[in-house]
Amino acid sequence: MSKITFSMGGIHPNDSKFARECAIEVLPLPATVYVSMAQHLGAPAKPIVQVGDMVKTGQVIAEPGGFISAFVHSPATGTVKSIAPRKDLAGNNQIHVEISVEGEVWEDGIDLSKTLVTAIPEDRNFILDRIKNNGVVGLGGATFPTHVKLNPAPGKVAECLILNGAECEPFLTSDYRILIERTKEIVVGAAIMQKVLGGCSCVIGIEENKPEAIKAVKAAVSELGYPGIKVAVLKKRYPQGGEKQLIDAVMKRQVKSGGLPIDVGAVVQNVATALAVYEAVQKNMPLITNTLTVTGDNVPVNMMHNYLFRIGMPLSYVVDRAGGIPDMAAKLVSGGPMMGKAIANIEATTVKGSSSVLYLSEEATLRKPASNCIRCGKCADACPMGLEPFLLNRLSKAGDLEGLEANAVQDCIECGCCLYSCPANIPLLDRIRISKGQVMGVIRARAAAAKAAAEAAKK
Ligand code: SF4
Ligand code: SF4
Repeated sequence: MSKITFSMGGIHPNDSKFARECAIEVLPLPATVYVSMAQHLGAPAKPIVQVGDMVKTGQVIAEPGGFISAFVHSPATGTVKSIAPRKDLAGNNQIHVEISVEGEVWEDGIDLSKTLVTAIPEDRNFILDRIKNNGVVGLGGATFPTHVKLNPAPGKVAECLILNGAECEPFLTSDYRILIERTKEIVVGAAIMQKVLGGCSCVIGIEENKPEAIKAVKAAVSELGYPGIKVAVLKKRYPQGGEKQLIDAVMKRQVKSGGLPIDVGAVVQNVATALAVYEAVQKNMPLITNTLTVTGDNVPVNMMHNYLFRIGMPLSYVVDRAGGIPDMAAKLVSGGPMMGKAIANIEATTVKGSSSVLYLSEEATLRKPASNCIRCGKCADACPMGLEPFLLNRLSKAGDLEGLEANAVQDCIECGCCLYSCPANIPLLDRIRISKGQVMGVIRARAAAAKAAAEAAKK
């Protein structure tokens, strides 16, 4: 079995997939759900319901707030109790629709049967409308609206759809579980996206540490018989699931600084997004569920789970259902230990892109006392984007935004490989992330000024 990987940098952390054997369990609804209007990249959605309204499960409760935005649907049946700011994971206020749960009545037109629908609709616009109207966003972390990503700008041609089944972050096992429990739906979802992209080829990339998933997906691809879909076995190497790293591994093409995957003919989607696309197009099912992993280091087996959750569930509720916060937990993280976000507010709710609740011990948090740089270069060797993190760190400390931009801080994918590799435990990622935000702000302001000047010149 030949294995492929990306060409530069990367690390080999212990994969710690302790919850891999935990079959997906359905989390029952709590008494109240709080549905965020900011569950996707882009403008927050705008509520279209009022306090006191009765809503059905799957009913639209918010419309897109701009071109890059998404519909949001009710995850439950009940009464709208409030539409008000509530703190998200990071402690920032976002508008949430609070719904008291009262029974379960589904919106009309949703196919709740388990029947696998394999016939791919012919009409591209029908497919894109279903994906848009059902609020599908990328579930690999970015939550970019899927209907926009599947509709490249004029002149851009998709040659290859790459389905990301790498799940290279340690601990996470939700993608693995859907790969073996919802295999055929994922393959149909891939075929739908191939169709909408004009019949390009499709490669489903899965890391070598998931042999059962590789076997299951290969069997489903063969049985369903859609043309042009292949399975690629990826070497276990972090960050193998990064968009640019997957394109490098599969197509041997590099996305230039500031460029997009479509510039080299690639569209990358996560396997969970393929499942959501299947549900949206073949079942008219809105994106109100996803799968998340509850796990950590030194966590008792009975406290590890892979849950099918509905959006709007407080994380405190998820944690309670899973057995409570274990004593060893020094830090709670949403997402993987490398790129995830610290949970600053346990009353924050699940959103479309939620992928985990991780309990990390002091030892696993990678936070140790920092010493001086010994100029070993290990951070640069580990960087999958070819950057020099020690230099970016130095420029960041000096507040040199010009130097940071010249040294491509904007290309940092915030993977944390530099931090992981640094023997001096320098918090490289923290500083680089802040500097990247500042430089991106400068780049955006410059682009806006150039656009305004061009428009003024036309008048
Ligand atoms: S976090 Fe950024 S600088 Fe550090 S290794 Fe990853 S891409 Fe490179
Ligand atoms: S890995 Fe750490 S100690 Fe080594 S060069 Fe980079 S910043 Fe300095």
